[in-house]
Amino acid sequence: MNAAWNAVIGLEVHCQLATASKLFCACRNAFGEPPNTLVCPLCTGQPGALPVLNREALELGLRAALALGCEVAARSKFDRKHYFYCDLPKGYQISQYDQPLCSGGGLTLATGKRVRLKRIHLEEDAGKAIHDRGQVTLVDLNRAGVPLIECVSEPDISTPAEAHEYLSALKEILQFAGVSECDMEKGSLRCDVNVSVHRAGTPLGTKVELKNLNSFAHVVAALEYEIRRQIEAYESGEPSRAPVQETRLFDVQRGETRTMRAKEDAHDYRYFPDPDLPPFHVTREHLERARAHLPELPAARRKRYTDTLGLCEYDAGVMTSSRALADYFEATLRFSSSAKDVANWLGNEVLALFKDPSSGVRAVDELTFKPFDLAQLIELADSGKTNRAGARTILRAMCSTPKAPRELLRDLGLEQIEDTAQLERWCREVLAGSERIVAEVRGGNEKALGALIGPVMKLSGGKAKPQAVRDLLGRLIAERGSAG
Ligand code: ADP
Ligand code: ZN
Ligand code: MG
Repeated sequence: MNAAWNAVIGLEVHCQLATASKLFCACRNAFGEPPNTLVCPLCTGQPGALPVLNREALELGLRAALALGCEVAARSKFDRKHYFYCDLPKGYQISQYDQPLCSGGGLTLATGKRVRLKRIHLEEDAGKAIHDRGQVTLVDLNRAGVPLIECVSEPDISTPAEAHEYLSALKEILQFAGVSECDMEKGSLRCDVNVSVHRAGTPLGTKVELKNLNSFAHVVAALEYEIRRQIEAYESGEPSRAPVQETRLFDVQRGETRTMRAKEDAHDYRYFPDPDLPPFHVTREHLERARAHLPELPAARRKRYTDTLGLCEYDAGVMTSSRALADYFEATLRFSSSAKDVANWLGNEVLALFKDPSSGVRAVDELTFKPFDLAQLIELADSGKTNRAGARTILRAMCSTPKAPRELLRDLGLEQIEDTAQLERWCREVLAGSERIVAEVRGGNEKALGALIGPVMKLSGGKAKPQAVRDLLGRLIAERGSAG
C-alpha cells in the first residue's frame, strides 16, 4: 500500500512597519489618506532622487528579528527586484536578495512543534492599483515606499490549522513588539502561501503559490481546497494534471484556486545590488537599542499571569489578546488588589462594551476612563456598595462622562439597598403571590427559589443585592414552613 499523502506548507508574510515615515524618503507612512497626498519625487520614481535608509525601519526590523530569535547579519544590503506594473513607478522594488537582514529563528506552536524561519528581509511596498469598474485603472502611490518586512518560513507547516496558528502567533508577537499593526483589513499584514503534497518518505512535490488571501480564514479555506486538488491531480495518474510551479489566486466566492501566472524564477527579476544604497552594517549599538525597546512578549506575559498573578490559562489568554488590553490590565492592577477581579471585569464587561455599538467605544485605546477609575468601580462592586447590574450601568456611563464611579453611583441612585426591613417587605409581597413556587421550594426543589429573586429585584428597582434577597427568601420560606 502507498504511504499517506502529506501536505507541505511554507508562508511568506509581509508586514508594514509602524514607522512615522517611509523606508527611503521623509513622506508620512499612513493609511487611509486621500490618494497621492503622501508622495515625493523619490517614492514616485523621479530620476535623480536618491534613497536614504530610515533608521526607525531598521530598528523595527531588528526588533522583529530579536522577538523571533533570528540571527542578525552583521552586513546586509539592498537589491533591486525588477518587474513592470503601474503601481511600481521605478520599474523595480528595493528589496533584499542574497544578504537579508537576518536568518533562522522561528516559532513554537502549542503542540511544541517548531516552525523555523528561513529569513526576514526589509523591502519597500508598492503603490496600489485600483481597477475602477473595469473601465480605467487608477494608481495611488501613498503606499509606495512604505517599509515592509517579509518573514519567510521554512516549509515546516503540515496542516491548514497549523498555518492558522502560526499566523496568529506571528501577528501577536509583531503587534506586541510594536513592529507592525498587523491589520489585514488595512493591508498591513499580507500573506502568500506555498503548498505542495507528497507521500511520506518520497521527495517533496512541486510547490504552488497562493495569493489574494485577505484573512486567516481564507488562508485555511484556500489551503484545504488546494491540498485536495493536488492530491486528486496526482492520484488521477494523468501527467497533464500534475501540479506545476505556478501562482494561483483564491476565488473567495467559489472557494477554489485558479491559475494566475507561471511562477517567476529569481532570474526573471534580474536582481542586482542597488547602487544608490551602500551595504549597511548592523552594529552592536543598533542591536542594543532594538533590544531595549523589545517589550515582554505575549507568551512570557501569559506565563507570568498564571504563575505569579494566579490567573487561569483562559483569563491569561484573554488578557494578552492584544498589547493594549494587557497593558491596561497591568495598569489597573496597580490600583487593585485582585488580579482575578480585574481580569474578570476587563474580560467580561469591558470587552462586551466593545461589541456593543451603543457604548461608543470599540477598543481599548478609545476608552475615556483611566485604569484608576476601573479599579475604583471594581472596588465599589466588591465592597457591595452596588450590585453587579448597578456596576455595569456605572461602567457604561463612564464611557461618556468624565465623572468618577463614586459620583455616578450617587447621581444614578445605584447604591445597593441595605435596609433589611424594606427588603423583607418586598420579599413578603412576592411570596404572597407565589404559592406554587413556595410549595416547590418547600418540597425540596431549591432551584425554584431562583424564580422569586427576579420579581424582588424588580420591586427594588434593581438595587437589592441578589445574594441578600436569596438568603432572605430562603429564611422566610423556612419560617413559614415551621409556623404552618
Ligand atoms: P522561491 O525561491 O521559489 O521563492 P523559496 O525557497 O524562497 O522559494 O521559498 C519560498 C517559500 O516556499 C518558503 O516559505 C518556503 O518555505 C516554501 N517552500 C519551499 N519549498 C516548498 C515545497 N516543496 N512545498 C511547499 N512550500 C515550499
Ligand atoms: Zn516620498
Ligand atoms: Mg521567495
